[in-house]
Amino acid sequence: MIAQLSQDKCVKLNERIYMESGGKMAEIKYWREENRTYLKDVIPLDTPYNIGIEVSSLCNTRCVYCAHSQRDHGVYEGNMTMELFKRIVEEIHRFPRKIRLIETYSFG
Ligand code: SF4
Repeated sequence: MIAQLSQDKCVKLNERIYMESGGKMAEIKYWREENRTYLKDVIPLDTPYNIGIEVSSLCNTRCVYCAHSQRDHGVYEGNMTMELFKRIVEEIHRFPRKIRLIETYSFG
């Protein structure tokens, strides 16, 4: 089924929306996953979706908008010990499900 959504640019075809641009048709898709899980439906979580591990807070760049650009920013700078990192990894394995994303950076 084809439905004209506006006078000139958009059409709806089989529940999908297409837009004409430069003589070509492009499907308009939601930027979010259509099958996403809403947090309100699953909390409290037994396993977090993602985890951030700041293995180092050192940075030799001085971006003006960042605390690192201040000479005395008061933020601890250093590297995580391998012992602590291994302990964190062991604890992550205790979650009943897999973590979707583990980021090993933050402030450094
Ligand atoms: S931590 Fe990131 S934002 Fe801050 S100075 Fe370093 S690169 Fe720039």
